[in-house]
Amino acid sequence: MSKKIERKLPEGIKAALVDMDGVLYDSMPFHANAWHQLFLELGVINSNPEEYYLYEGMTGADTIGMILKRELNRDTTPEERKALYAKKSEKFKNCGEKKMMPGASEMLEALKEKGLNTILVTGSAQSSLLDGIDIDYPGFFPKERRVTALDVNHGKPHPEPYLRGLEKAGVSPQEAIVIENAPLGVRSGKASGCFTIAVTTGPIPASEFEKEGADLIFPDMKTFAQWLKTI
Ligand code: CA
Repeated sequence: MSKKIERKLPEGIKAALVDMDGVLYDSMPFHANAWHQLFLELGVINSNPEEYYLYEGMTGADTIGMILKRELNRDTTPEERKALYAKKSEKFKNCGEKKMMPGASEMLEALKEKGLNTILVTGSAQSSLLDGIDIDYPGFFPKERRVTALDVNHGKPHPEPYLRGLEKAGVSPQEAIVIENAPLGVRSGKASGCFTIAVTTGPIPASEFEKEGADLIFPDMKTFAQWLKTI
């Protein structure tokens, strides 16, 4: 954990807004590979899988629009972005078995123990993961406590996903924490006014999360879950 950072939660926290990919599922390597393959097939040769960790949290449509404009200098229609995102989702599904993030169940149990309501806030619309949430994390994210890419006009790093999460929780930003693994997700959480916790479950260094103003930074989910139990 970074030392500049305070080591406790603010008073009066009632809800935890929890990201999905890279927090509940160890799915980012699959997403990165699926994006890389998709763009390679479209003629984008100047990218590598690691690059896509940086765009984590953005909607698929935003990522597609940005990369095709930058690399091929062409505009895309909403229909095309939707079709390409469906292709990417298919590739993601074919990457292999989804893996739950080690320590994530423990983290959710610790939040529940503290009386916090849990809300899912993901930039993803990946049904292959969303459909499994009730089985993998039973009781934590009923349908009315989920914000997905389908519920928002703007993906992360815009604050809208977390603002929608606050609405669903019925709390103010001062009463909620955000749990994120991506720099753009941290930016979104901070912009919504919430105390934002980064768990660095991927290859991006802690310094990137400090730059985004993360209030706490943990090296992995197990460490975060253990810490929650001690406070
Ligand atoms: Ca994430």
